[in-house]
Amino acid sequence: MQKFISVLLVVFGSFTLLTAQTISSPSDFLGYDIGTQFSRNHQIIDYFKTVKKQVPNQIKLKKYGTTNERRDLYLAFISSEENIKNLETIRENNLKNTGLLEGESSGNDIAIVWLSYNVHGNEASSSEAAMQTLYELLTEKQDLLKNTVVIIDPSVNPDGRDRYVNWYNETKNELYDTDPQASEHNEPWPGGRPNHYLFDLNRDWVWATQVETQQRIDVYNQWMPHVHVDFHEQGINEPYYFAPAAEPFHDIITDWQRDFQTEIGKNHAKYFDAEGWLFFTRERFDLFYPSYGDTYPTFMGAMGMTYEQAGHGMAGLGILNDEGHILTLVDRLTHHTTTGLSTVEMASKHAKQLHTEFAKFFNNSDLKYKSYVLKGNQDKLNSLKALLSKHQITFENPTTSKVSGINYSTGNQGTLNVDGKAVVVHSDQPKGKMVKALFEPNAKLSDSLTYDITAWSLPYAYGLEAVASTTKIPSAKLLGRAALQTLSDAYGYVSKWDSMDDAQFLAELLKHDFKVRFTEKPFTSNNTKFERGSLIITKGDNKHIPKFLETLNTIAQEQAQPLTEIYSGFSQITPDIGSPDIKLVNKQKVAILSGEGTRSLSYGEIWHFFEQQLHYPLTSINTDDFGSTNLNRYNVLILPNGNYRKVFNDSNMTKLKDWVRAGGKVIAVDGALRSFAAKDGFSLNYKTSDDADEKKDNLTAYADREREYSNNLITGAIFNAKVDNTHPMAFGYDDNYFTLKLGSSAYSLLDSGYNVAYLNNTKVFSGFAGKDAVKNLDQTLVFGEERMGSGSFIYMVDNTLFRSFWENGKLFLVNSIFMVNNNAYEL
Ligand SMILES: [Zn+2]
Repeated sequence: MQKFISVLLVVFGSFTLLTAQTISSPSDFLGYDIGTQFSRNHQIIDYFKTVKKQVPNQIKLKKYGTTNERRDLYLAFISSEENIKNLETIRENNLKNTGLLEGESSGNDIAIVWLSYNVHGNEASSSEAAMQTLYELLTEKQDLLKNTVVIIDPSVNPDGRDRYVNWYNETKNELYDTDPQASEHNEPWPGGRPNHYLFDLNRDWVWATQVETQQRIDVYNQWMPHVHVDFHEQGINEPYYFAPAAEPFHDIITDWQRDFQTEIGKNHAKYFDAEGWLFFTRERFDLFYPSYGDTYPTFMGAMGMTYEQAGHGMAGLGILNDEGHILTLVDRLTHHTTTGLSTVEMASKHAKQLHTEFAKFFNNSDLKYKSYVLKGNQDKLNSLKALLSKHQITFENPTTSKVSGINYSTGNQGTLNVDGKAVVVHSDQPKGKMVKALFEPNAKLSDSLTYDITAWSLPYAYGLEAVASTTKIPSAKLLGRAALQTLSDAYGYVSKWDSMDDAQFLAELLKHDFKVRFTEKPFTSNNTKFERGSLIITKGDNKHIPKFLETLNTIAQEQAQPLTEIYSGFSQITPDIGSPDIKLVNKQKVAILSGEGTRSLSYGEIWHFFEQQLHYPLTSINTDDFGSTNLNRYNVLILPNGNYRKVFNDSNMTKLKDWVRAGGKVIAVDGALRSFAAKDGFSLNYKTSDDADEKKDNLTAYADREREYSNNLITGAIFNAKVDNTHPMAFGYDDNYFTLKLGSSAYSLLDSGYNVAYLNNTKVFSGFAGKDAVKNLDQTLVFGEERMGSGSFIYMVDNTLFRSFWENGKLFLVNSIFMVNNNAYEL
């Protein structure tokens, strides 16, 4: 026996020795010194796979998803042999510590560090650093792995990364040119930063609208790491940023989280000082908006941090910056490798404390609001529940009929009558701090200057009535959805119209060539009152559909869409089904402008909306081609947020107006309105504040200018707009709508046209809005329609698709496409 053990020891001993020798360095593997070329995504993944083969006992690779462009997403779990063997136990123990998994933790103090690289595709040094970090962890830094599991996501956004790298490789000089004016330093539209649908994945963590995020947060929530780092790059003249973060901090962030990120920052500083590298801390990057790669982990208990290296899409392999330094890819990846390893070192050193403090974070018995109660449109409640489930936030139904607290529709103390269909979300659950961050009526800002929007409160975003209660509301898990009944033969079938589910149902019917009507006036049939916008599918309209009833049944079942049967065209209360007030929905051909001039994010939001949410075809036309485009092939042209000065020259503007006069419909979003405001033939006009305020500004001290300027800013704030819900653009809405204002641009009410939604009060329900900007918003347009000839210009001052999370605004766009000025402009 003794002999056997010593043989084993020899085997293991030599194995460890062998390990260090057989791991390929990134440079060996790639065939070039790391940092002298940009590696394509597949090379990065192949390097991880190769190392996995070389040290299978210390690394586990998990494919956790696929991108829109079919690239695979991987996570590498790196640790000691012992820990890798016990990986599942380590994971479960961690969840048991937080109360997210039932049972007693069998106890260990293994720190879990998650490093995410290259979420912004053109901040491309970080995936190179991921390879180098893997190598160093498994060679020189082995010791850190004894009590640490490091999870590396080498390429969070591979579609964006390859867009950048492929462009760079085909553009750059040999040798690379350090002149910042060279084309290799100036990316074309849309750039490599976003994903396939041009979403910024570093704004998407909570909303999880993108496949990359959805697949990532699923694994993230199974692991709940103690430390999460999101690696980024910033402008070429700003050397390096690391934690501690800037104010404002959201007030759910604990003292421990504040203190420990300072300790981590000091450890990085030690390494940077030794090399004489420049860096800054505590400026610019705050911890408030919950959907970032630093805040989301922070609100889930981790030390969530952003590290920013000078570089990004401009830097290439080397660039001369304004201070006369040549910034190289080698420098950039070296800095990111240094902070990554320094982070792991700190986690390993403080593993025990990380555990204790992490567990404490999940005790949420002392939060002010104990329950958030929401009621309203069932489809909207269902979408909210789907969002909560993505983050493993639990919810129930109230078992009481009246709740009181802060009422979201007034912003004051009030009551709400509820039934078992309402939803209750308690804050005393492990994810309670995230609940607070997402639901709180008005999150407290410790500083008005922030990097991002300051309002997102879910009841407003989902268009639900809600109360935040300081006492816990009694609740239970009540019944789920009732099954749909099968349709039988009838004169027609009516669907309500007030949610995205209804919009998807309509899109599906149109794709199947159904003729669908909608009503511009309420009517009653089969003892049911149907509101404006309700869809009517009659047997008589659809004789061309083979197996009409069977097909309709299938679509309704697939879409879980309840329909009411009607047995006559004669309504109990008019209009009758054959009335001119009940119109056929035109199967619109929709085009959108993309390319130079359009904001890529806004274009991407609309593109994603059509393909992944509405499921309706959309033709994308490059702005460069607008002059030669035959607009008569389309019914609707969407102009995303952007600057169209170059696109709409005199002849193109005439072309656009002629097409509208003949019946075309333009939907202009946000900045696109500037193309028409104060222009000949349009009643759209800017509303500007008086210049008295601007004069005062000139007397403000230099140091106070930025703060003074914030009086004119709106950084994402929620207002209550008045809605004319008899106008087709507002079918399915109440007579008021909570709108998310993203900026201070203001337009007067239309003199000739329809003011569909507008602000007639300037109460700020949530978020930061500077006092001068707010004053100017009174009596301003939110959504409107202006007719020209047979067609229309539709103005959306507020972008309802912003990051795709303002669920309640989406139907305004669908209405604009299918219901506004529906003159059956058939092609
Ligand atoms: Zn970034």
